[in-house]
Amino acid sequence: MSEHLMNTYARQPVTFTKGEGAWLWDTEGKRYLDALAGVAVNGLGHAHPRLVAAISEQASRLIHVSNIYGIAEQGKLADKLCAISGMDNVFVCNSGCEANEAAIKLARLYGHNKGVENPEIIVMERAFHGRTLATLSATGNRKAQAGFEPLVSGFIRVPFDDLEAVRQVAQRNKNVVAILLEPIQGEGGINVPRDAAAYLSGLREICDANGWLLMLDEVQSGVARTGTWFAFQHTDVVPDVMTLAKGLGSGVPVGACLARGAAAEVFTYGKHGSTFGGNPLASTAALATLEIIESDGLLAHAEQLGNYIREALATSLQGVAGVSVIRNAGLMIGVELDRPCSGLVKQALEAGLLINVTADKVVRLLPPLIMSESEAQQLVDTLTPLIKKFLA
Ligand SMILES: *Cc1c(COP(=O)(O)O)cnc(C)c1O
Repeated sequence: MSEHLMNTYARQPVTFTKGEGAWLWDTEGKRYLDALAGVAVNGLGHAHPRLVAAISEQASRLIHVSNIYGIAEQGKLADKLCAISGMDNVFVCNSGCEANEAAIKLARLYGHNKGVENPEIIVMERAFHGRTLATLSATGNRKAQAGFEPLVSGFIRVPFDDLEAVRQVAQRNKNVVAILLEPIQGEGGINVPRDAAAYLSGLREICDANGWLLMLDEVQSGVARTGTWFAFQHTDVVPDVMTLAKGLGSGVPVGACLARGAAAEVFTYGKHGSTFGGNPLASTAALATLEIIESDGLLAHAEQLGNYIREALATSLQGVAGVSVIRNAGLMIGVELDRPCSGLVKQALEAGLLINVTADKVVRLLPPLIMSESEAQQLVDTLTPLIKKFLA
């Protein structure tokens, strides 16, 4: 690694040179099964031929023009995103934190427009919303925040999956304008609400009763990862604002903030912007990603494969002391151990498998949507002995 890179990552000792499907090859020619997909980014795996063709054709014609002009590809992307989500409009940006920054600005402006001078947003413990100052302030991780004070004010934190805590804030605080949460927490440990439908509809009711916006951060859970286009679609609830990024562009940086109803009217000329956001190349990558997911039936496949992996791991790890719980929502899969286990990442790497550990104790798997059942079985067969040995 170059000495000229800032030390913001403790990198694994490997560098990849090519990929195909669910597989990556390093500089030595060794092959790895990718069960992380660039942290939920490469849903189509690596070098998907139709994605490569679409972005190659676009790059050869037009990469960037500026949002000062019409961008046909961005318009098509917005139409498609609204059609599959039920939202009304879209601001296209380049990353998850930018999508959340847009949502936070939108909520504040929504508050100011109705006379709330110091608008506040309810956020969750163990949440992750990004690394910019506002999104870091919204993130529920003291370690990530430490040293960056003063943080951005205007966030109120409550426990995840706790409606009563939100009701109590509603009773005593007149400045709240929105709730921002991940329907399934990713970095926080693949935390799935006990009853997602009841939790989200409870939050929806509180928002409606108080005139708040329900804002879902689907940066990790969105774009087919949980077996529906967006995780909220496992319920009857529709949010006012939703943010996307990770899987949206299959690795070409693109994020989006979607809004519906009154929230869709908040941003007007000059209130927000982005130089690169939704340029022809990024928009084409996102549009091709959505079209391939649809035409290849990857929504149903993600749901089925996720359950297959969870069940296979539950069987292979049955009765193993130290395995606390195995949970999933489609292809967001967490194996929680009773102890910190970041060392497993390197052991898996040596065994030719890419995984991740988050929240200290949770082995996190975010396989590409295109992974086959036999590859999934290979993942389980490689990971199981590593976990057993680690816990022995
Ligand atoms: C990764 C992530 C982000 C931040 O996305 P970046 O593109 O790294 O800025 C925000 N929210 C959630 C839920 C994420 O998983």
